[in-house]
Amino acid sequence: MITLNESACCYCGGCVSICPVDALFLDETRLRIAERCTECGLCIQACPVGALSLAPVDRALAPGLPARSAYDVVVVGAGPGGAVAAREAAKRGLSVLLVEKRQEIGSPVRCAEGLAREPLERFLGVDPRWIAARVTKAEIVARGNGREERRAYEGGEGFILERRVFDRALAETAAQAGAEVRVKVAAVGLVQEGSRTVGVRLRDASGAEREVACQVVIAADGVESQVGRWAGLRTLLRLRDAMSCAQYLLAGVDVDPACCGYWISEEIAPGGYAWVFPKGEGRANVGLGIQADLTQEPALAFLHRFIEGEPALSQGVPVTLIMGVVPVALPPSRFVADGLLLVGDAARQVDPLTGGGIANAMEAGALAAHAAAEAIAARDTSAARLAAYEGAWREGTGQRMAKRYHLREKFPPAERVSPGFLRIFGVAVGGK
Ligand code: FAD
Repeated sequence: MITLNESACCYCGGCVSICPVDALFLDETRLRIAERCTECGLCIQACPVGALSLAPVDRALAPGLPARSAYDVVVVGAGPGGAVAAREAAKRGLSVLLVEKRQEIGSPVRCAEGLAREPLERFLGVDPRWIAARVTKAEIVARGNGREERRAYEGGEGFILERRVFDRALAETAAQAGAEVRVKVAAVGLVQEGSRTVGVRLRDASGAEREVACQVVIAADGVESQVGRWAGLRTLLRLRDAMSCAQYLLAGVDVDPACCGYWISEEIAPGGYAWVFPKGEGRANVGLGIQADLTQEPALAFLHRFIEGEPALSQGVPVTLIMGVVPVALPPSRFVADGLLLVGDAARQVDPLTGGGIANAMEAGALAAHAAAEAIAARDTSAARLAAYEGAWREGTGQRMAKRYHLREKFPPAERVSPGFLRIFGVAVGGK
């Protein structure tokens, strides 16, 4: 019987084209093998990564695991938080390994791609290669209690990114600074001595595993973070702190190319909001997030209704569908442990009002790298020493985020069309 190593499969579709009996089928990113397979073995030869085999015979794969067995710092996850952490740690002269479980950094995108000018300039630079549109205006449409209110803002400057390009470019800066970057390599566990993290267990596409020793792990493994839990940190997300999101990239829409639109309405997006972010050339990211505990209906159903109800959008052609969950929570009570720091979505450092997390993840990545470097230099990577990072976050941006969390709590969904909430939300989305 032909067997598939799912983690190795790169879903290129080559095997499907070669199969003489139509027994292979690529279901988006999952390869299926039908019973009519005759085990002719042609697909095994065609597979560029050796993901198919005639059990129990296994084909050797080119190893994806790093050659070295020890680093100063291992960063898990090459999103904005992990890439900046890896770069800043490498810049401080530390040996750094950055591992990403996906085969392509930045893909699939799980983001509406909005970012203000300041963090973009600070962490990567303003470059047309990763910018789809420049925005200078915002409009908030609030619907509720039988009336509609529109608020327009001008003056703030931001960008709608091409995250696919942006994330990769950030990771490239980490590599240029000296970090070793490995894709399709997942962290699957921690190596611990007592409560102290002293390394990471990695698995490559072939399924081969190796332990890599390090002084500090920076876990930037996103909303689905597991690394913190492995270290005993309490990162479980409450349903009410989870924004369940769906978004289409629509082509052929008639929207202001310099204006980000926000719709606040219990009917359109309970507990959250809908957005229209222009991406230039008549395209826009059109999506919404709903508070996951408020309704049984999936976000995608709300999105379809929203688009159908807006004439400027309903003519649009969906060219990409994106799903995701945004953690709009307070960070866990601890987000450092002995030899380990959590960064970005993994530490729930997202703006609880807007759901924006790119800038915060990059800032936290830089702070974490700084704290890790100081701790390594002092030969003390205990949680007590790494708590300098936790303190820096909580006293700075974290304080503003915590205030926003409590403001969100103060205004229940039905009251988010009130002038008080709209004023706060206007400031959060960059209105003056
Ligand atoms: P991520 O970008 O999620 O990166 C984590 C990485 O870790 C991933 O690449 C993942 O594959 C990898 N990983 C996970 N586990 C492992 C493992 N075990 N081993 C190796 N690698 C692993 N923010 C904004 O600022 N502006 C927006 O407009 C915006 N819109 C959004 C719209 C939606 C629908 C969603 C879902 C989110 C949006 N966000 C937005 C939030 C933003 O995308 C995140 O806050 C941001 O990407 C967080 O960066 P990060 O580096 O912490 O995590």
